[in-house]
Amino acid sequence: MSARTMTARTDSRPGRVWFVGAGPGSWDLLTIRAAACLQTADLVVHDALVPPWLRDAIAPTAELVPVERETADGDPGEATGRLLVRLAASGRTIVRLKGGDPAVFARLAEEIQPLRDAGIAYELVPGVTAALAAAAAAAAPLTSRATASSLTLVTGHEAGDKPNAVDFRTIASLPGTLAIYMGIEQMDRWSTALLEAGKPAETPVTIVSRCSWPDQRIITSTLARCAVDAAAAGLRPPAIAIVGAAAGSMQRTGPLAGRRVLVTRPAGQGEDLATAIRGSGGEAICVPVVRLDAPDSWQPLDDAIGAAGAYDWIVFSSVNGVRGFVARLRAAGRDARWLGTARIAAIGSATRRELDAVGLACDLVPDEFRSEGLAAAFADLPAGGRFLLVRADRGRDVLPTRLAAAGHHVVDVAAYTNRPLDELDAATLEAVDAAGIDWITVTSPSIAAAAARLFGDRMRRWRIASISPVTTAALTSFGLEPAAEAQVATVSGLVAAMATVDGPR
Ligand code: SAH
Repeated sequence: MSARTMTARTDSRPGRVWFVGAGPGSWDLLTIRAAACLQTADLVVHDALVPPWLRDAIAPTAELVPVERETADGDPGEATGRLLVRLAASGRTIVRLKGGDPAVFARLAEEIQPLRDAGIAYELVPGVTAALAAAAAAAAPLTSRATASSLTLVTGHEAGDKPNAVDFRTIASLPGTLAIYMGIEQMDRWSTALLEAGKPAETPVTIVSRCSWPDQRIITSTLARCAVDAAAAGLRPPAIAIVGAAAGSMQRTGPLAGRRVLVTRPAGQGEDLATAIRGSGGEAICVPVVRLDAPDSWQPLDDAIGAAGAYDWIVFSSVNGVRGFVARLRAAGRDARWLGTARIAAIGSATRRELDAVGLACDLVPDEFRSEGLAAAFADLPAGGRFLLVRADRGRDVLPTRLAAAGHHVVDVAAYTNRPLDELDAATLEAVDAAGIDWITVTSPSIAAAAARLFGDRMRRWRIASISPVTTAALTSFGLEPAAEAQVATVSGLVAAMATVDGPR
């Protein structure tokens, strides 16, 4: 599928319906295909399982249509299918967004029947189903040659004596892992049924609640105790239970084991940090407090790009600066050749990696990853150099001021801007409160300002990890004292700083 085939339609023909798996919730567990669908949809039909922070992935022009399950006539799946038929009649492109995978416990058969009857074309886009997301969150295999040769996805909702209820006696005899969906309310029933069918009381059970959501929780227990433990921990749905030997290996180790760490970078920029936190055993919870946006005007950057070959140095002070610059260079129909003999500097290692990724070799990275480091690296150049600085519009003045003072000609342009979010929605804040956050990571002065405003007093309860002295200074100006500051201003420096405070675990 491509975005083009999705929008190709005539108004006289019914639109196509895309059943798109949203994954468990976090936007970075959307597939690229799902994200493309969400960007080209005219209408997105969703249910309550789609969390608010996924909405950023949906085209702002798309109309959102919630499905009201409770008020539906007859089978809710068929009612939704009929709704899709009506909506498709307008010729618009419709995404039916479903949590996880659209083919797993999602009433897909019921929803597609009316479409088939009406001759309306539909396609499926798979998503990361809860069982797989839970295994990843708990860093554990679901199958293993020695102990688990099958994986069974089963609904826990139907445990009990209903006529078509799942027979947990049969399920108990399977030689592998059970992933129990919709099971948190009925945990007592299905765990008892499995025990009565002869599954050992000590069979490991791992429960992942709100997997990949800001308030994700993971508890490990046993078949005999899981219902009591889940209730005591106050786990909230949606939650999935993984039962079997595989669940026994779901223990996180590392210096941040058991720590819940907030990642506040803008959507699409936090993966490196989240991965480093998870790699150290911690739980990364992503709640962006700023979003990247175009600068108020592209003109200064476009003008600078027009004259790029005339500079001696083009200096990038962030990954986003590189991305914005390259996007405008391409938009102007140019490529690296246009930069001619200009040399290229990056403020740090991540910015250099981004330059590499877009095919621009970096001539200089300072020893110290900050503006002062760059200023020092240029200190010995003879006066009269021509510098183009590509930055965020809220960049610091250290570098332009020092370069100008040394007699250089400096042009300072914004390639992007970090806009603080106006507010965090109530559900996100509630989720953050329920999560029991240990650390909040703060990776720039603009994030410090946004976090101080959006999280308020919570910032005094959480430990704060600052990426650099400049960020620490911003925090201090809001009366906040970081418990850790990275020695090197990188993602791994930040994680190392938190680990040092937490000590060996
Ligand atoms: N189509 C979905 C399943 C829908 S049924 C999928 O493929 O994942 C709803 C059940 O899915 C929930 O009761 C829960 O068991 C599980 N689930 C969905 N999202 C989840 C999440 N973020 N964390 C934990 N479990 C989840």
